[in-house]
Order: sequence, then C-alpha cells, then structure tokens
Amino acid sequence: MKSVTLRGPGVVEVAEVNEPAVLEGSVIVEIDRCGIGGSDLTSFASGKLPAPAWFGHEWSGRIVEVGAPGDRPEINERFVGERVVGSAPPACGRCRTCRAGFSDLCDVVLEMIIGVDPLADQVGGFSERIRVDARRVARIPEGIDQSDAALAEPASVAAQAVARSSMGLGDLVVVMGGGTIGLLVSELAQLGGASRVVVVDPDAQRRELACDLGADAAFPASNRELGDLTGPISDWLSRAGHGLGADVVFDCAGSGSSLLDCIRIARRGGTAVAVGVAAVTANPNAATPWTQPDAVSPRVIIDKAITLRSSQGYTVRDVRRVLGLMAEDRLRVLPIYDPTPVSLAEVGDALTGLASAPSGWLKPLVQPTMTETTSPTLRRRAS
Ligand SMILES: [Zn+2]
Repeated sequence: MKSVTLRGPGVVEVAEVNEPAVLEGSVIVEIDRCGIGGSDLTSFASGKLPAPAWFGHEWSGRIVEVGAPGDRPEINERFVGERVVGSAPPACGRCRTCRAGFSDLCDVVLEMIIGVDPLADQVGGFSERIRVDARRVARIPEGIDQSDAALAEPASVAAQAVARSSMGLGDLVVVMGGGTIGLLVSELAQLGGASRVVVVDPDAQRRELACDLGADAAFPASNRELGDLTGPISDWLSRAGHGLGADVVFDCAGSGSSLLDCIRIARRGGTAVAVGVAAVTANPNAATPWTQPDAVSPRVIIDKAITLRSSQGYTVRDVRRVLGLMAEDRLRVLPIYDPTPVSLAEVGDALTGLASAPSGWLKPLVQPTMTETTSPTLRRRAS
C-alpha cells in the first residue's frame, strides 16, 4: 500500500510500504481523510518526527480488521465497517500520575495522542491503512461525514482548552490566532456561554471566517496595537468589557509574544490560557507578527494578578463531546477545511504551500484513496 514518508527537512515521498498486519488488541483502519496540521508542518520543516506514527494524526476512517482481544475485552465493541476517528485511550490507571489520583492527566493518554502507540506501525494517517491500538479509536456518530470527522482531533484540543480555562457564563473572551484551533476555540467558547468572543488574526480571510462562525468581532494582530492597548481592539474591549479588558484570553497563536499580548489584554484578575504552539516553518518569510520571541515578564503577570493556565492534548471525554456537538450541528467545522481533498502525491505540495504562506490556506484534507491527479485547489494556488 502507499504511504507518505518524511525523508528529511522539506522532503516527503509516496512510498510503497508493507500492509499493516493486525495484532492482538489492535485494529486496522482504512483512512478516508487526514487533516494536515501545524505539527505536521513542523515535522516537515525539521525532517523529524516526535513519534513514528505521528505524521498525519488527524484522521477519520473505517475499521477493516479487528485483532484478537487478548486482555482487552473492550475490543469486542469494535467491528469491521465501523466509522472511527483517532481518539485518546481511557486513562491507564497504572502510570504514576494515575496512581496518584490525577487520571485526567494520565501519562499514557498524553503519549498516545502524540503518537506513542506501541501497537502502531511506522506510518501515520497519510497512508491508505494504519494499525492502531483499539482503545485509541472513537466511533463517528450518524450524521457526521468523514471529512467533518477528521476535524474531531483539533476540535478536541480546543474543547480541552475551553474546559481547562474555567470560563464562566457571560465572560468576555478573546482568542489570539484564527487558525484551526483558534476558530474552534472561538466556537466552543460561544457554546460554553461566553457573552462575547473576539478573534485576533493578521489574515483578513481568517477574520471574516471567524465572524462567519459566530465571533462578535475580529481584529488584525499588531504587537504595538495590542501592547499599548490602543486601536480598534482596545476600543472594542473598553466598550464591551467595561474598560477592564477580557475575562479569558486564549493563546492559539503560540509564540512568546502572543502569550504576552494575551496577558496584556486580559482584565486584572483574568485568565490567560496557552493552547497553541506556532508551527515552525523552514521559510523565515512566513513569520507572522507573533513569531518574534518576546519573553513573558513575571512583572506583567504579577501586575495583572493573572491566572495563567495551559492546556495540552485532550481526553476521550473531549472527543466524545465534540463528536456529539458536531452530530447536533452545533459545532460547525466545514468552513475551516478545504472541501477539495488532496491525494497522497500532493501532500508534499500542500505542505510546501502551507510552509510558505500558512495563513492563506484552509486546512487541507488528504484522501489517500484518491487517484493522483492534481486537485483544482492546488492548481489554483500554484497559479
Ligand atoms: Zn495513567
């Protein structure tokens, strides 16, 4: 079968690899769609993977083979033809963190969602089929198509961030960064009871998209504008936030300076949540205004009496939560991705395009079964 393999910095190739063989406790999933995310971009630019099966982890597919259960009777719930997404396993109950009573932060769950799956093959979701631990898949509810379902992974990251923010009913929320995670955090904050949600992004199309997805306003990013709290965003915050700033600010841009901006626009006693990590691209021209490494000064945090939180990954509960919201049409993901998928042969072109101009793209979805013709979307972008 075919799989996209990372060969070095900025180099991928479609390789013919062995079919994955089913093992005890595992399932084989045929991939329908796999989103290209910021972490794939970082892997592409650096030529290094954090874990073997990490390249392409935002996938949806169908189970084509179920392994023997072994000591995992829960595998009996899986069946051939079941539509599934990559999810998080339940907390292991055995690691140090679980044994100490913090099972919501289980070490094994975190490792598995960043691709450390001992049952997985060496290939990720940019492949025709993959083998994964059967505990790591979640059923796609009726009414969600395979393309939308591929957004369940980033939506789960966003859901965990909103849950960990302890955002309250009626809070004024600012989302720094209108990429995939930022747009999903904006939607989930609206669903979670925020009175107003504002998205900040340098790209005009992304700002428009944020407003289409229900944000009350969107503003361009500018360090100066945010730093001294002048300009349209501070005027807006003054009016909407009674001159105090935002109750909760999510940093979905992920650089030192964007986190500093979050703290600056939060109200005194407000909360800043670090969610995103900026993708590292090989092209320095792709730098956004946020990628300059400004240090977050302890003085700024102390002056604001800020609660600083962080959020990493997600749990199986987050995955179920977002799939439920998607099935009820309350969480809209279609406008966030490009509806025209790309083939395995086009993954390299899509990654190169994203690396040179990350903000101008909707999230590309890879369809491994697609024949290798250049998609109209890539053609349009190349011209
Ligand atoms: Zn554990």
